Formats: sequence, structure tokens, C-alpha cells
Amino acid sequence: MSAAEPTAKVTAAEEPASRVLVVEDEEAIAQGLVYNLRRKGYRVDLARDGEAALELAGGGSYDLILLDVRLPKADGFEVCQRLRRDGNFAAVLMLTARDQPDDIVYGLKSGADDYMVKPFDLAELLARVEGLLRRARWLANGSSAEAENGAGADDGGDPESSRLTFGEFWVDFRTWRAATLDGVRELSRKEIAVMQVFAEKPNEVVPRRELLDRVWELPNHPNTRVVDNVIVALRKAFEENSWRPRHIHSVRGVGYRFVP
Ligand code: CA
Repeated sequence: MSAAEPTAKVTAAEEPASRVLVVEDEEAIAQGLVYNLRRKGYRVDLARDGEAALELAGGGSYDLILLDVRLPKADGFEVCQRLRRDGNFAAVLMLTARDQPDDIVYGLKSGADDYMVKPFDLAELLARVEGLLRRARWLANGSSAEAENGAGADDGGDPESSRLTFGEFWVDFRTWRAATLDGVRELSRKEIAVMQVFAEKPNEVVPRRELLDRVWELPNHPNTRVVDNVIVALRKAFEENSWRPRHIHSVRGVGYRFVP
């Protein structure tokens, strides 16, 4: 009888190892990353240029891609854009150069989930990788097998909790799809995660710090611009007039308020 069974003990060790693709052309950095990620228990592959990265990632079997921007054959932006265009939503952590501040904005626009500036601190990089993977698992648990079968086509039959409706819009947290001003489309990992926080706290002030903490999993993330970029994208999706938002309001100096 199930009642007599010992308490199920689910530990991280029982989950299949996360698969990580390192895309880096500088041999010393590449080997260092591969070595340290393997020590953390991840299954790691290495690609040394953009084309090799696209080929390896094409199968869609990676949970996270550590993507250098400056690469031979196809740079990191192009790789990321092409992956997203092909429907590959592996978490992407981009490695940008310190002297190229535009890389950060461009990287996030091309679909990266987070970025780190080179030279990076190894411990921080490993923490970010872990955070992104945890976030991916959290989102995946909310979606499960049903979403994979339905692929968002089953309008009307969704349980209330997986779908947020506001105005003429909706967001489906299982399929990541949403009815936006551009029609029904897939939201990015970060957009979905921010909307999930909003959905939990309708009409409440959500501090920017809380979003950084929960969505980026780094309370001391150096750059709050990552939050603003996602808010800009969400307003584009759900606000006719970004200057006079109906749903995603700014609370000056604090954060945001979502009004369904
Ligand atoms: Ca490079």
C-alpha cells in the first residue's frame, strides 16, 4: 500500500545530470570550464566555433549553453538568434567582453538568459549556471508532459492555475505561449518567469530586487538593466501604449505593479 511506503526521498543526485554545452575558442578557458563543470557533475560537451555549436545544439538536448560572444565562423549573437529561431530554448549564459558594453544589450536581445563579463569569477559563473538550471527545472516542472503533447493548441481546457488572463491577453505557463499584441507566440524564459511572479501578486508592488532575486536568482546581480529589458519586452507584448501602461505599471524607484 502506498501509505506504508517510506517517505520518498528525492535528491538532486537522483535527477539525470544536466547537459551543458561550452562554446569557447580560447583553449585554456575552454578546458578550465569543461573541467570545472564536469567536477560539478554536469555532462559537458565543447564546441570551438559557432558552426560546431549550432550543429551540436541542433538536437536540442542541452539544458544550458555557455556561449562566448567572440567566436570563429559564427559569433555568439548569431548562434543564439539561430537557436531561438529554431525553437531551441536551452538556457543561454553569454560570455561578453568587458570593453564592449553594447554586447550585453545585444546579447540579451538575441535571446540570452544571462551574461557574464570576461574575465569572470569561476565561483560566480558556476553559481549562475546552477541558478539557470534550477530555474529551468522549476519551469519544466510547471509544464510537464502534457504541455509537450498539446504544444499550446488546446485552448479552453487548461487548468486555471497554468493560465493567467488579463484584458484581452493570456499567458500559459505550461507552454510558455501567450496571446500578445503580435498574436499568439512563445515568450522567453525570463518573460515567463517575470509574468509568473506578477501572477502571484496581482495589484501588489513587486520590487525590482525581488525580481532579480527570484527570476535571476542572484540578489546582488550587478545590473538591474536586465530586469528593465524584460519589462520593455513584456510591455511590447501586452501594452498598446508603453508610456501609459494598463497592466504593467512602474512604481518609481521601487519596481513594478501588475494590474490584471
Ligand atoms: Ca572567444
